Amino acid sequence: MTVMGAYSAARIALSYGPELSFLVFLRFLIVLMRQDIIDRDNRVQIISTRKMYESYDFIVIGGGSAGCVVANRLSENQNWTVLLLEAGGDETVLSDVPLVFPTLQLTAMDWQFKTESSTKYCQGMINNQCNWPRGKVLGGSSVLNAMLYVRGNRRDYDQWRDMGNTGWSYDEVLPYFKKSENVMIPGLAKSPFHGTGGYLTIERFRNNTPIAKQFLAAGREIGYEEIDINGATQTGFSYSHGTLRDGLRCSTAKAFLRSASRRKNLHVSAHSTVEKILIHETTKTAYGVKFRRGSRNYIVYARNEIILSAGSVQSPHVLMLSGIGPKEHLEEVGVPVIYDSPGVGKNLQDHVAIGGLTYLIDSPSDCPEKTGICFVLPRFLTLSTIKQFLAEERGALYNVPECEAMGFVNTIYANETMDYPDVQLFLASVADNSDGGLFGKRVCGLKDDFFANMFEGILYEDTYNVVPLLLRPKSRGYIKLKDANPRHHPIIVPNYFSDPHDLDILVEGAKIIYNLSQTPTMKRFGARPNSNKIPECAHFAFPSDDYWRCHAQHYTMTIYHPTSTCKMGPTDDRMAVVDPRLRVYGVHALRIVDASVMPNIVTGNTNAPTIMIAEKAADLIKEDWEDICDKPLTKHSVDDKKQLRILGVHALRNRQVKQGQQKEQMMMAFRDNQIDRFSSSVGRGNLRIDLEDDSDYLDDDREKEEWEKEVEMVHNQLEAVKLKRHIIDDQSEEQSGFEIEIIPDKDEGDSNIHKNWQNFTKIFLTTKYVTNNDATNCAEIRIDKT
Ligand SMILES: Cc1cc2nc3c(=O)[nH]c(=O)nc-3n(C[C@H](O)[C@H](O)[C@H](O)COP(=O)(O)OP(=O)(O)OC[C@H]3O[C@@H](n4cnc5c(N)ncnc54)[C@H](O)[C@@H]3O)c2cc1C
Repeated sequence: MTVMGAYSAARIALSYGPELSFLVFLRFLIVLMRQDIIDRDNRVQIISTRKMYESYDFIVIGGGSAGCVVANRLSENQNWTVLLLEAGGDETVLSDVPLVFPTLQLTAMDWQFKTESSTKYCQGMINNQCNWPRGKVLGGSSVLNAMLYVRGNRRDYDQWRDMGNTGWSYDEVLPYFKKSENVMIPGLAKSPFHGTGGYLTIERFRNNTPIAKQFLAAGREIGYEEIDINGATQTGFSYSHGTLRDGLRCSTAKAFLRSASRRKNLHVSAHSTVEKILIHETTKTAYGVKFRRGSRNYIVYARNEIILSAGSVQSPHVLMLSGIGPKEHLEEVGVPVIYDSPGVGKNLQDHVAIGGLTYLIDSPSDCPEKTGICFVLPRFLTLSTIKQFLAEERGALYNVPECEAMGFVNTIYANETMDYPDVQLFLASVADNSDGGLFGKRVCGLKDDFFANMFEGILYEDTYNVVPLLLRPKSRGYIKLKDANPRHHPIIVPNYFSDPHDLDILVEGAKIIYNLSQTPTMKRFGARPNSNKIPECAHFAFPSDDYWRCHAQHYTMTIYHPTSTCKMGPTDDRMAVVDPRLRVYGVHALRIVDASVMPNIVTGNTNAPTIMIAEKAADLIKEDWEDICDKPLTKHSVDDKKQLRILGVHALRNRQVKQGQQKEQMMMAFRDNQIDRFSSSVGRGNLRIDLEDDSDYLDDDREKEEWEKEVEMVHNQLEAVKLKRHIIDDQSEEQSGFEIEIIPDKDEGDSNIHKNWQNFTKIFLTTKYVTNNDATNCAEIRIDKT
């Protein structure tokens, strides 16, 4: 380390004390004076493990942007019980305050991932590793994010459809964007592209520095009008729109969970980290999850489905730990393979960007704000701004200076006539020097020397920064298991710039930013690039393509948008992990709903698209299950074999285990609401069970064993009906039980099968057997309420 670097590091270390004190002080004042932020009456209720059920109709893993939406929408059906398992705790009062957004990273609310070291990117970062923050908190990354509300381009979704994902075209997803939205931006409420009355409030940031307006003016001068970038077209500039309520962060936990958490049928378990999804080896059916809460491990069972919403890093991680992933890799790390799904963890896409494109500027002497034209931290952290925040609900704490405005622009590689911009610009009224190295340097993990060389000489000067983001990268990275230990972070390799064209586009983005600084508007403020260059790049002429290229490889920034690691695709796409209804290929009763299912990353920030995916997924799940649960079973409703398929079983093998556990295992076996529905309806009906094969089963010992398991499963299902009813309604009497009639088919009756059924039923129930009534490989059981 150089002397300069050491000095810079020591200076910054000394300022951590005041920073921390400020945050503690602010927290104290909020608790004292801002009851609206405390929101005591509406905060998410966390269920104690004692009160948790042994099984739920749906288990949602991960309460992030997507998980909170799914949990809310599924629990709208009061007949269903829903459990949401989230590794983190509740949001803090500080996370509501827009300005403190960067301070949330590298805290307990952040998983604190890092990319693997690289020689091609992130070279300005400690160990050549980029930080990859991800929310570990109710609300997930929507609590850590910059709150920017951006939906992407209509072509993104049309392309998803063209890739074979039926139902995901722009016209089909637009209603779901609108469904969640409550737009509060003047002029947009009547727009056909926006919604009102949804849970997610969209506002403009309450505070801007004077430079924001100049960004829009400069944008106009290089040919981009101010537009609604979530409206009819995308190319243009705009003030940032945010997921904000009353100027404060509106995470998905605030929007979707607080409003639902008092529902009796929704249980939220925080600090609960799922380590494995339990999948039956033979039936390939997900039936439960193993999770850790505090120092204890728990198992909870799912009757209908498990929904994995752990995000683009951890959905593939959890999936692989559970035995679904590339076979060779799973074998290499010692995870038993349930299903060889080569696409799990692959196809990782992220919005890579260039940091540190810093321009100095002169605050005009007649600047109306005495705080200056840009955001310089010491000028804003004053008693007056704190008072404004606490007493008047306005002021700088309502600002996110990292992106006061944004632009969607075309480089020379984009087709201007298509309204399909290839670079997004984040126009920031701060740069890494503006906070003295407190936040920007820390969250990016910049090396001390790197920071010292670039910024120590211009500390606290008026500067702005524009970040160019590559909207549709061609490079693909991957997520892998480090080993079979669920507590170890996965390996993250984003492979930025592995396709050299990605770097070419970003270089053009840097040139657009340079041109922006040369506009009459910016020239009026004396805009000029930071003359301190990255030492490793200083030998290149400035400005030049070679310099920008080198700069990008050193100050490589993630814009925190990893997607597509469990991509959705049609059956003939071997790399697809989920089908267009988001069901995991190769496994029953398991869906993935989060940013990982995007077939390709969208042209813009990823929070709003993830929420849209969750809204749509909830409807898909309802479609698949609502019919089954709400209507009485009739002969006609069993015609669809798939609908009535017994989804899985974990047989009661350990009968010797103590009473409590035995019950758990029975619950585990209960998978099919058909039986439950029957039990609560007219008391008479038919249950068709897909036995997958016929009497040939019994030729082989192993298959005979399979068959016996199926038989046992049916019994378990029926037993579980009683247990389930007991659990859901404590007041209700224990059900009187059911009689199964299994009547041997006259034509095709197979004595062995019959015998098997008889053996099993002798123990528990009176039975008769009917086989292959009208469909092949199906047995039909008539159930009578006794
Ligand atoms: C710092 C930052 C800034 C960003 N800025 C913006 C922005 O301004 N605008 C925008 O649109 N997007 C932004 N994003 C991206 C956006 O927030 C994400 O794309 C979106 O939140 C992803 O949602 P998700 O549901 O896929 O995952 P997440 O929201 O990350 O949710 C995953 C959840 O699963 C939980 N989880 C993970 N593993 C387990 C487990 N094993 N057991 C239990 N729970 C588990 C996590 O704790 C988390 O709560 C930003 C992201 C970050 C991190």
